[in-house]
Amino acid sequence: MKNITVIGSGTMGNGIAHAFAQCDYKVNLVDINEAALQKALATITKNLDRQVQKGTITEEAKNVTLKNITTFTDLAAGAKNADLVVEAASENVDIKLKIFKQLDEICSPNTILASNTSSISITQIAAATKRADKVIGMHFMNPVPIMKLVEIIRGYSTSDEVTELIMATSKKLNKVPVEVNDFPGFVANKILMPMINEAIITLQEGVAGVEEIDTVMKLGMAHPMGPLQLADFIGLDVCLNILRVLQDGFGNQKYAPCPLLVNMVTAGHLGVKSGKGFYDYSGGTKDLVLADRFKKKVAELA
Ligand code: NAD
Repeated sequence: MKNITVIGSGTMGNGIAHAFAQCDYKVNLVDINEAALQKALATITKNLDRQVQKGTITEEAKNVTLKNITTFTDLAAGAKNADLVVEAASENVDIKLKIFKQLDEICSPNTILASNTSSISITQIAAATKRADKVIGMHFMNPVPIMKLVEIIRGYSTSDEVTELIMATSKKLNKVPVEVNDFPGFVANKILMPMINEAIITLQEGVAGVEEIDTVMKLGMAHPMGPLQLADFIGLDVCLNILRVLQDGFGNQKYAPCPLLVNMVTAGHLGVKSGKGFYDYSGGTKDLVLADRFKKKVAELA
């Protein structure tokens, strides 16, 4: 595999393009939005500059990486020569089904089609194509150039050959691939989202405040970040959507999103991306500052 097409140049797409381009793959980065493509190139350049400053790559390697990336707003032009497509467009079933249907017509019958979806069924995406054996999940973690894990999701019909090839390709990116089956939330979000939800329930019940909950999980369980801070980083709207996928997919109320989470999303308090969630990011993300409504002492919560 040499030619990779990445669809969607947002948070994940730019990181996926960066990771492949840095390992000498030729990357076509496709987005419907030209401004998003320009922003992605600026982000990749900034992240490569940081790597040069740290001494982990040379200036020459940075320039080669950037040369390996070409941008497109036209899907057919960007995907027609791909050996592998990694779709990282917005998390919306209709958008993804449409893209995969188009890819099935545009790409060679041998092209492998992967999705970076966090929660949509790979089997459902594969069913939009006539090559379900060549459709697979490649779930990278954010930020892609730094995080080692790639969850490799086998759809109901994904072949062994395709799974092995994608596991090997992920290793070539210096990542650690983990093979999992296609069930709602896969492994990462099936375990992470109920934990985040339980942290919000714990806050809602007044067992403790935001800082106490995050500190217990950080220092007690050796998590690098507390679950409420992590929820702010992921986006509370994203957490809510994934919990609904788990609740619907398993038909189990244990995944029902906590009312406080629903309220915060409805009020537009989505975490870092909106400037406010459990913490207030109006001054940046470096120093953690509690959002005003969570500045209560534990004694006032019970
Ligand atoms: P994002 O909103 O930052 O970027 C999505 C991009 O897709 C946008 O630039 C948008 O213009 C583009 N897009 C929308 N429709 C398109 C189309 N038809 N063709 C081409 N481009 C199109 O989203 P993101 O956070 O990068 O998430 C992308 C995917 O990665 C989602 O499936 C998400 O679930 C998954 N994911 C996200 C994270 C995360 O932490 N953000 C982690 C793992 C997986």
